[in-house]
Amino acid sequence: MRAFNFSPGPAVLPTEVLEQARDELLDWRGSGASVMEISHRSPSFVEVATRAEADLRELMSIPKNYHVLFMQGGASAQFSLVPLNLAPPRATVDYIDTGHWSQKAIAEARRYCEVHLAGDAGGSYGAPPQDELRFSGRACYAHYTPNETISGVEYRYIPETHGVPLVADMSSSILSQPLDVSKFGLIYAGAQKNIGPSGLTLVIVRDDLVGRARAETPRVFDYKAIADQQSMLNTPPTFAWYMAGLVFKWLKKAGGVRAIGERNRLKAEMLYGAIDDSRLYKNSVAKDSRSRMNVTFTLSDVGLEPLFLEAAGEAGLTGLKGHRVVGGMRASLYNAMPIEGVEKLCAFMRDFERRHP
Ligand code: PMP
Repeated sequence: MRAFNFSPGPAVLPTEVLEQARDELLDWRGSGASVMEISHRSPSFVEVATRAEADLRELMSIPKNYHVLFMQGGASAQFSLVPLNLAPPRATVDYIDTGHWSQKAIAEARRYCEVHLAGDAGGSYGAPPQDELRFSGRACYAHYTPNETISGVEYRYIPETHGVPLVADMSSSILSQPLDVSKFGLIYAGAQKNIGPSGLTLVIVRDDLVGRARAETPRVFDYKAIADQQSMLNTPPTFAWYMAGLVFKWLKKAGGVRAIGERNRLKAEMLYGAIDDSRLYKNSVAKDSRSRMNVTFTLSDVGLEPLFLEAAGEAGLTGLKGHRVVGGMRASLYNAMPIEGVEKLCAFMRDFERRHP
């Protein structure tokens, strides 16, 4: 039996997608081989790759003047590749610091650029409001993390940068709700939350930002070289790309990002409601910055936490342990987490509180 898996990533994938992958694993489309055993340049794989990009473009309404790159190295590689591709040496770049992942991005950018801090959470768990942002006015780009996966902090707005290209690490929020891509210069995301298995990184980049890489940028990480070769400069992660394609098809069938966004809103509302209604559970994030994807909570009696995790596991609710740097609990409610999973988690939490008043 499959558990309800609240893991932050790699994370739950739609059961139908896994079933299809299983059914065609040994003999993909009558080829006598699995999809991961054939050339990435074979016409049948190229068709899979092209279809996946077309479906993603449709799902996110990506304008024609944007490239979609299927890369490797995870979101962490983009922490370096964004400055290397977008900013010349010693240029100023603006970053907003809202926690763990923005700080990782900032640390890498400092190796290549002058980083100007345009805003931070001010010591609290929340996203800074637009009127507190102080951009340098001379940056090549401005970077932020729309959803901080570890603390569970999410922006409710897209920062206005007054013409400076906005770069967003959407690893844990891509495809979770409708988005106006035209507001961004570049969006990147590791696949292992809302897209598919790990090993694939998506980059959506406006075409005027492509072709500016520093001379020392490795060619396999130069956005222009990758775009020119339809992300097949070298061997791409073919199985992850195929799986992403199946997830995009599943998402289209589920009604696209508008329908899934509504479902995500309901799931988060239900779980935050259960937390707010209790005396045992507490969420520390400012109410207007609570993440819909990663719901963090602590127990007022921390001594109960191991017991909570053990009992949850026995009830078929897994992946709830918070990140090691913050502790506590975290329930990740990505697209593939069904409403029943959240209902079951809420019922379990109420029952656990009753048994441990
Ligand atoms: N950014 C965010 C917002 C993340 O959640 C993660 C991974 N959890 C990363 C970056 C790092 O991703 P990767 O492991 O793919 O490098």
